[in-house]
Amino acid sequence: MGQAKHRGSLAQRVAAATAHIDALRPAHIVCNQCRNEIAEVVDIDVRKMHGLTAAFAATCRECQSVTYAMSGDPQTVQALLATIAEQEGEMPLLGRQKPGDAVGLDNK
Ligand SMILES: [Zn+2]
Repeated sequence: MGQAKHRGSLAQRVAAATAHIDALRPAHIVCNQCRNEIAEVVDIDVRKMHGLTAAFAATCRECQSVTYAMSGDPQTVQALLATIAEQEGEMPLLGRQKPGDAVGLDNK
């Protein structure tokens, strides 16, 4: 047993977690309503959501509905999706988006 390779600083661990989420982020999300491919995928902060590894949301330009993609414990994902469905897409972390005003990751 050598020394534990656990000398990463908090910043390094955050960077690693971010890279992990980057790897999970889909290039696009297919709209649940109209099957349109949505390229603007928004990260949802899941650090306080136990059981979730990553979550993303996308607002469809065609029908304005929000579609979510999540990774993590299947039961947690199911429960969260059910909650979102009940609330009609009102996810507090995502905030309200005006139609056509996507919260893009690359606001150039
Ligand atoms: Zn749509």
